[in-house]
Amino acid sequence: MANSAHTARYVPTRQVTIADRVEFDGVGVHNGSPVSVSIGPGDSNTGIVFVRTDCGPMGIDIPARFKKVCSTELCTVLGSGTGISVSTIEHLMSALRGFGIDNAIVEIDGPEVPVLDGSAEPFVDAIQQVGVRNLDAPRRYIRVLRPIRVEDGTRMGELSPHEGFELDITIDFPSKAIGRQQLIAEVTPEYFVSELSRARTFGFIEDVEKLWSNGYGLGASLENTVVLSDGGIINQEGLRYTDEFVRHKALDALGDLALAGYPILGRYRSVCGGHRLNHQVLKALFDAPDAWTYVDMPARREKAAGAIAAGVAVPAFGPDVS
Ligand SMILES: [Zn+2]
Repeated sequence: MANSAHTARYVPTRQVTIADRVEFDGVGVHNGSPVSVSIGPGDSNTGIVFVRTDCGPMGIDIPARFKKVCSTELCTVLGSGTGISVSTIEHLMSALRGFGIDNAIVEIDGPEVPVLDGSAEPFVDAIQQVGVRNLDAPRRYIRVLRPIRVEDGTRMGELSPHEGFELDITIDFPSKAIGRQQLIAEVTPEYFVSELSRARTFGFIEDVEKLWSNGYGLGASLENTVVLSDGGIINQEGLRYTDEFVRHKALDALGDLALAGYPILGRYRSVCGGHRLNHQVLKALFDAPDAWTYVDMPARREKAAGAIAAGVAVPAFGPDVS
């Protein structure tokens, strides 16, 4: 099946934020409710922070970290620990990680990120309009030191050492329209924008109907979901990529793994995975302190660029778990 190879590596030395504020209006794919979200610049070392602006006079901050994940049932949901949550964060997180954005404040006036067209393209278009800004602070990475594997029935997810960030995603659906698809790629901003960001959410008509009867998927439509039936793809416009399905799974995985809090130096392989498996693998990684370490880039940019070009290992410091 389709297989994308891409080998350039993207390992910048300084932290990055979005250059200016961008705004979106839409509906949540699950709650069907209107919502506005805006992404603005964040200071060095703040990471990605969601702010529920509709909760209290100051809003409620929810850092985009794996420890804040409270559900992975239909989408990835972050919780404040006090009953406030923000759901369906994965496509927005994928766009931020795809562009290498380390710090951003995401203000949202409801509990679910708008689905927009079901892909990350609207976020990408907006970020490209304003651009990104390099900060002076050196970038921190999480380096995978040994393989960490999670098996869950027919599903498998594994992080292993790699000097860059590679995705190796396989899906296998009995539906003839999908079948078995694999994507292997080194993820750079260029690759993300052209090869992953436009891949849309997909679902089977019988599952969509089940969701509707349970009060979910209320915002799902052919405007934001590739819908499949026994006869194939229902959407008249067809697919954006011939293997759009595995590309969307790669987009989701990138967004879910962004909850590590720092970019990962490693390879992520998943077979028949999804949000739950992505989260389980991150959790397994952080549960094994000998399996990873922080890597802080040197403060001086010239030195770091030279070290990377020469293939010299960047300095590693022991985990100072936060
Ligand atoms: Zn998705």
